Amino acid sequence: MLDKLKTWARTKSPWILHFNSGACNGCDIEILAALMPNYDLERFGVLLKATPRHADILVCSGPVTRQIAKRLRRIYDQMPEPKFVVAVGACACSGGAFRGCYNVYEGIDKIIPVSAYIPGCPVRPEAIIDGVAKLLGSLQKKTA
Ligand code: SF4
Repeated sequence: MLDKLKTWARTKSPWILHFNSGACNGCDIEILAALMPNYDLERFGVLLKATPRHADILVCSGPVTRQIAKRLRRIYDQMPEPKFVVAVGACACSGGAFRGCYNVYEGIDKIIPVSAYIPGCPVRPEAIIDGVAKLLGSLQKKTA
């Protein structure tokens, strides 16, 4: 019962942390646009936080370089359970334009588990909202 209540609260007001693991800033600008009043991701209760210790969802953009991989893992480890990761953009999903480079992993799922993939280069704010809404919907169904 308590777990159901916690999940209900989390899905009604998920707190997110945005992490750029080396993006060209294209996807980051779209993530910020999704959070601004024009697209208003906050209408789903989504709140941007500045610390992993308060975040439920890690929204990650960009290719994971070998330099940043350990930091990404550390940030993920600092988040409380249950936690979820959304890969935003082709680079985060599979390495994108940087796939095959000697210093880049082929997607953030090589470093941390990913709950949802939102492809695109860059991703449109509508796709980000759709991806987050689907993730929240699937969490609600699991506890129903
Ligand atoms: S997916 Fe495209 S827009 Fe997004 S970080 Fe990669 S190159 Fe930039």
